Amino acid sequence: MDYKKYIKIVEDWPKEGIKFKDITPLMANGEAFHSAVDEIVEYAQQKEIDVVVGPEARGFIIGCPVSYSLGVGFAPVRKEGKLPREVIKVDYGLEYGKNVLTIHKDAIKPGQRVLITDDLLATGGTIQATIQLVEELGGVVAGCAFIIELSYLNGMDKLKGYDVLSLMRF
Ligand code: AMP
Repeated sequence: MDYKKYIKIVEDWPKEGIKFKDITPLMANGEAFHSAVDEIVEYAQQKEIDVVVGPEARGFIIGCPVSYSLGVGFAPVRKEGKLPREVIKVDYGLEYGKNVLTIHKDAIKPGQRVLITDDLLATGGTIQATIQLVEELGGVVAGCAFIIELSYLNGMDKLKGYDVLSLMRF
């Protein structure tokens, strides 16, 4: 399916110079959303996934229907202070400043095969931090799936050695 027509590009949002890729029109279209989720599910079915992990907030939107369809669990990765029980955390640099991501310590058992989902791969910082959390818990990152990859930001450089699916590239 040609998903690009369902992505709205918003210039200079949330700040000047950013071309924000809005996936909400894709989510709003039942056929397109279903097809996008199914493509990720088909990819994941070849990888014997035990658990799906996604960073907030749009990683949940993609990861939850995928985990439901696979019949496996979903573990959220959240900003600091949002998860109620014992967590491990990772700091990572953003274009300006830094961010902290956390996951519950018992979210993944050692050796479990993990699919990581997010809406979009930009610089790769978010996915790299998420991989770090999964691996620190002993999880095996069997695949990473995105709706969109921004090729010009070279996020794939941070994913060398990992298996990656992107449904479209800009
Ligand atoms: P990064 O850590 O640079 O790969 O950024 C990825 C995260 O930031 C994803 O969770 C996206 O939701 C969000 N993001 C970064 N750049 C954009 C963009 N141009 N349009 C929409 N979302 C973006």
